[in-house]
Amino acid sequence: MLADKTLEISESADAKAEAKRQFENARSAQWFKVVVDALRAMAGSGGNCMWCSSNESSHVEHYRPKSTFPQLSMAWENYLWACSICNSTYKKDQFPDGAEQLINPVDEPVWDFFYIDDVGLLTARFDVATGALDRRALSTLQVVKLGRDDVAARRRSQMKQLKTSAADTLARAQSGQIDKVEVLQRMSDWRQNALQPDVSSFFLDGPGKNESPFRELFEWLNA
Ligand SMILES: [Zn+2]
Repeated sequence: MLADKTLEISESADAKAEAKRQFENARSAQWFKVVVDALRAMAGSGGNCMWCSSNESSHVEHYRPKSTFPQLSMAWENYLWACSICNSTYKKDQFPDGAEQLINPVDEPVWDFFYIDDVGLLTARFDVATGALDRRALSTLQVVKLGRDDVAARRRSQMKQLKTSAADTLARAQSGQIDKVEVLQRMSDWRQNALQPDVSSFFLDGPGKNESPFRELFEWLNA
């Protein structure tokens, strides 16, 4: 169905208007619910925003805006699941290209571009090749305002909670109160965090694994 619509757009004399019309129609169409459900399912158990991890997401977002890329208006690979703040308030039709092209949170390994610092702030990585902060990460932070106060506060609070839980789990594991099965179960629960899953992704499956107390917890598991 999406491919049919894309063909109609590419054959239209006014692709931009046709792209807008097709997407508006799709949003109220029964068949498009399947697309929406599949996209939401990709956003984890909380259906979180693929940009800011907010669990109040409800928008099919176009990674490349349909105004400048009408032929991608109905293309599955161009869709992201996003909250209204990221989609409608900040990103809108912006799409800096070239060296400042936005990171695609689905197709690219986000932790190659970002990290979460000691105080829980999402930050651009230092790019050794250029000797400066990664430009695409900086551009993404700026365009989608990923460091905005409410998101930053939630991320900081989730990081504190996760570190406390991990330290507690490590202490119990080391003293023999809980076994490996219990530790793995707890980690699985942390990954399901519906509020700010990027935090658990960074510390359990990203570069944060090397930070204390996660490093010690993984060492204990692998011993
Ligand atoms: Zn968002």
